[in-house]
Amino acid sequence: MKNIVIFGAPGCGKGTQSERLIDKYGFYHISTGEVLRDHIARGTELGKVADSYISKGQLIPDELMLDILAHLLDSEEVAGKSIIFDGFPRTVRQAEELERILRERGRKVDTVIGLEVDDDKLIERLIHRGLETGRADDNPDTIKQRLQVYHNQTQPLRDFYTNNGLYKAIDGAKEVDAIGEEIAREIERL
Ligand code: AMP
Repeated sequence: MKNIVIFGAPGCGKGTQSERLIDKYGFYHISTGEVLRDHIARGTELGKVADSYISKGQLIPDELMLDILAHLLDSEEVAGKSIIFDGFPRTVRQAEELERILRERGRKVDTVIGLEVDDDKLIERLIHRGLETGRADDNPDTIKQRLQVYHNQTQPLRDFYTNNGLYKAIDGAKEVDAIGEEIAREIERL
């Protein structure tokens, strides 16, 4: 049971590369953003709370996010499977708690794949995705806010995972296939 974190800014290609890994290795995909968007679409109470943060480009509070995650990890579908964490953790607190939550379940983070892309390219990709998919938070104002939140709250995790030896930087500006091959090499080393 491997546990892989795909890390990087909004628009770096986490979702695209996660899909490839699911096809190739059959990982269980935990995308916290998708879980929250699903709640919003179903109009649940959690969805209403999540929407109030997501629409402003802010992070959902750690406590809430950690509850959701622990719940997901205890679901039957996840039992015995390798997991890709996509969009989680996003704060140092979430990363610290993830260690504990995984340890309690006999797991650990095996590698953190960091897809590194500069802001200009991220903005270009997110605007394009917004036009193609209609995703509500892919609009210029919210994109700007999300990138600021990324740099302030999420990027410090790069140091956290570099210091514990788990961080593997990958140039996320390359072609999708080339990035996929680099990630596969990394995973096959585990
Ligand atoms: P994503 O699809 O990963 O880009 O996430 C979309 C939005 O969901 C983010 O901008 C946050 O508002 C929220 N979100 C997703 N994952 C997390 C997380 N781990 N912690 C806090 N908020 C999150």
